[in-house]
Amino acid sequence: MALLVQKYGGTSVADADRIRAVAEHISFTKRQGHDVIAVVSAMGKDTDGLIALAREVSSVHPGREMDMLLTAGERKSMSLLCMALADMDVSAKSFTGSQVGIITDNDHGRAKILEVKGDRVRDAISEGTVCVVAGFQGQSLEREITTLGRGGSDTTAVALAAALDADVCEIYTDVTGVFSADPRICPRARKLGRISFDEMLEMAATGGRVLALRSVEFARNHNVDLHVRSSFTWEPGTWVTAEEGSMEEPIISGVTHDLTEAKVTITNVPDRPGVAASIVRALADAGVNIDMIVQSTSVDAKTDMSFTLPKTEVTASQSVLDDLAREFEGGTISQESDIAKVSLVGAGMKSSPGIAATMFETLANEGINIQMISTSTIRISVIVDAAECDVAVQRLHAAFGLDAVDVYSAPLPERK
Ligand code: ADP
Ligand code: ASP
Ligand code: MG
Repeated sequence: MALLVQKYGGTSVADADRIRAVAEHISFTKRQGHDVIAVVSAMGKDTDGLIALAREVSSVHPGREMDMLLTAGERKSMSLLCMALADMDVSAKSFTGSQVGIITDNDHGRAKILEVKGDRVRDAISEGTVCVVAGFQGQSLEREITTLGRGGSDTTAVALAAALDADVCEIYTDVTGVFSADPRICPRARKLGRISFDEMLEMAATGGRVLALRSVEFARNHNVDLHVRSSFTWEPGTWVTAEEGSMEEPIISGVTHDLTEAKVTITNVPDRPGVAASIVRALADAGVNIDMIVQSTSVDAKTDMSFTLPKTEVTASQSVLDDLAREFEGGTISQESDIAKVSLVGAGMKSSPGIAATMFETLANEGINIQMISTSTIRISVIVDAAECDVAVQRLHAAFGLDAVDVYSAPLPERK
């Protein structure tokens, strides 16, 4: 008998039929003799719908009120799932994040988990009851309701699995595992049987949204094994564990893409010590997370600086950037949002020269221009035009020998 945390994402609980299918699976797991903690996301695109509604109602979105609003999405799915379980004679109770003691900091919209108390979950489990927990939410030390950032239900699941010492944390989603590229844009992507935390971290950080980045960090720090699998086919999926790859594994594990970033360029930046620091500091103080940074060669003691940032933070960066441009004589700011970050990830890269050369040649052969480049020991990322993203992913996938013989065949639910 094992303790399983099962997380069900938005498409897995998108409508009444899906909720009943999930309840059936939980009932089946219980009948196998296991204890279950189910963590649920909001139904389908409910979170997006609530955000759109907030925009319609007002141009002002205080973090506290946004979190109050967004946590309503997960409340709907947790209670409906418990009703479906009751219909199958399975004893189940729903809990909000605050009820199970997910304690966070007070950073609304992207709160970090500080502690998981979990007493009510422990009690319910010891009575043989299935716990259904609302994902993506917690309560701050100031007793405010918080959310953990988009995709945060993955993090709730991993945090509960760590706190309750679960045997495994299963992440049920709409694809059959972690693939060598997003099967939605690369039909020849292959399912990985296993991937290490380090590689998964790089994939999640560069757009492989199948797992939220924070959840992988949490899993690595607390050594929680993850099993990413489909709630449509229920077949075995991908294990994400601490284990490093074996010698026969390919040098490159995957190609990721990210369309959520924008590029900002500041011109006429004085080329002297402290200027780059002041730009980055001003943005950090405004809560803006910048990613790839490129500075051009200095001409007449002036340079241009470009960096990427999440599209959602462009507005927050606006006034900071305008102030900076005014400070630099002749300084201008330009923004481009039609960009894509395409990355190659693979632990084998460390010991294999020539990866970057093959990557750049492959893109050049397609006439794709590289706007920015950044690397880590196990990743190379480039910024290209958004319109060239799919072709770039597909060609790189083929060039590094990752193409599967068969095209992806499991059902891919439509995303409205
Ligand atoms: P959920 O709502 O279940 O949390 P997500 O949309 O967050 O689902 O994540 C699943 C989606 O991640 C898939 O539908 C797929 O399009 C996308 N995805 C991106 N990269 C990958 C990858 N490398 N492997 C698998 N899925 C990926
Ligand atoms: N419902 C939230 C979102 O859409 C959290 C999640 O699904 O993980 O981001
Ligand atoms: Mg997700």
